[in-house]
Amino acid sequence: MVKFGPSGQCDWFNEEHSHTEDMPAWLVEHGLDVYEYAFNKGINISDEKAAKLGGLFKEANIELTVHGPYYINFANPDDEMADKSKMYVINSLKKMKLMGATKLVVHPGSLMKGSREEAMALVLRRLEELSKLLDENNLNDMYVCFETMGKHGQVGTVEEVAKMCAIDKRYMPTLDFGHINAFTLGGLKTKEDFRGVFETLKKYMGDRYKNVHIHFSKVVYGPKGELHHVNYNEDVDGYGPDFEPLAAVLKEEGINFTLVTESRGAQTKDAMLLKKIFTEMN
Ligand SMILES: [Zn+2]
Repeated sequence: MVKFGPSGQCDWFNEEHSHTEDMPAWLVEHGLDVYEYAFNKGINISDEKAAKLGGLFKEANIELTVHGPYYINFANPDDEMADKSKMYVINSLKKMKLMGATKLVVHPGSLMKGSREEAMALVLRRLEELSKLLDENNLNDMYVCFETMGKHGQVGTVEEVAKMCAIDKRYMPTLDFGHINAFTLGGLKTKEDFRGVFETLKKYMGDRYKNVHIHFSKVVYGPKGELHHVNYNEDVDGYGPDFEPLAAVLKEEGINFTLVTESRGAQTKDAMLLKKIFTEMN
């Protein structure tokens, strides 16, 4: 299955509607298949609302994914803080069960004191512990989708995310190609560059590399990586990545994916454009 859709409410939606409850039918109208809901600032939706919203999305046959809280940080040297991060994941997943959503996007962590290697060792240890908590809470048919990050101060290169996902079958990559390109200061240009991303996943995850969540938007970067996201057709010469070479690799590798656009205001138009490029290819 391949699915395309926006993250959050874009400008176009906001001109016509004001409630997320109107979103599923609106996305069907525009030929899209997935919507990413934000727990970015916290899990603030009531159980009743979560169940109601989930029902509407299910009825419309639009998959609902969720972006987890921004304050999750598995690289924090403080074990108590890391325990809180684990609970944010568990509580997000419990709420998502009511919404009928199975994929939770998580930023692995930010470097605090110490080296990148030390931060990564902390993250891997915490994700082993999180695995056990998922078992204890019977969260078996859910996916925690660790995101590739765009800033040099964050944990989450393609290889780091692949190592995280190797720990548990419920861990899946969120490949944010704008972030990967920004982190590598423009490393994603050719089809081979994009294919390399999937080869790295395969090395650590085996055949599970064929199921991924994707974030796609162009990202402007500086010497330390990501600065900000832009709309696909915005005039930002030199900042990519372009979607065509990725679309070709996704087709050739037979990847199952949900692709969410995180543009600046034009998410839905961009999701429609990327779906059109993908569908019309070949
Ligand atoms: Zn994110």
